[in-house]
Amino acid sequence: MSGGYDLEQFVEVPDQDLICSICHGVLRCPVRVACNHIFCKTCILQWMKRQETCPCCRKVVHRELMFVVYKLSKSISRLKIKCRNEIHGCCATFPLSDQYGHSTACDFKVTSCPNEGCEVEVLRKELARHLQSCEFWKEPCRMGCGAMLTHQTHAQHNCYRELKREFEAQQSTHKAIATKLKKKLSKMQSTMLQMKRQVSLICDSLEVMDDEEDEEEGDHAGSSSAESSANV
Ligand SMILES: [Zn+2]
Ligand SMILES: [Zn+2]
Ligand SMILES: [Zn+2]
Ligand SMILES: [Zn+2]
Ligand SMILES: [Zn+2]
Repeated sequence: MSGGYDLEQFVEVPDQDLICSICHGVLRCPVRVACNHIFCKTCILQWMKRQETCPCCRKVVHRELMFVVYKLSKSISRLKIKCRNEIHGCCATFPLSDQYGHSTACDFKVTSCPNEGCEVEVLRKELARHLQSCEFWKEPCRMGCGAMLTHQTHAQHNCYRELKREFEAQQSTHKAIATKLKKKLSKMQSTMLQMKRQVSLICDSLEVMDDEEDEEEGDHAGSSSAESSANV
């Protein structure tokens, strides 16, 4: 019969008075019968299905003279126990009454992967790492395109929304480049105009200089002919 708490669970060997003589475990919900012997409630009820006498002293047990010993139950609940996941590496010890609270948070509890279809079981502390590579992990695309992504498809997912965003970004950089080029072009055009103007100004002044030179040369010829005629 397994009515009481497993002796192995306890950090220290419990007092002999706390042991149920039917199941040899630590009393769970202890009840005192008329002869003052104490058993787990389920143990004595099971026992009484077969015989109505105390398993210790053979005195008759009256069902109506059975009482739960709350004080004893309280002191048993304060006994320190080891975590059930000790075999997986948990070293925690805590009062028996905290067993449920600890087991719901114990990092060493074997947990099954919550992803649909995945049958992997890992320690709770390793679940996060498993989820990062779980082949049954699924998530809707964060760009909102409606695709369901797995770890495999996540990297290769060519989201049209993302492509669109990239395209728009590229377009705006292209536009920026085009306006820059236009500005440069118009600057160059105005520089060229200026240069043209300067060149034509230079040409004009050169022509003027040519004319002046011609005039000077004409003077020379006149004087030299005058000289030569004088010499004759
Ligand atoms: Zn028992
Ligand atoms: Zn008895
Ligand atoms: Zn634990
Ligand atoms: Zn999984
Ligand atoms: Zn997408």
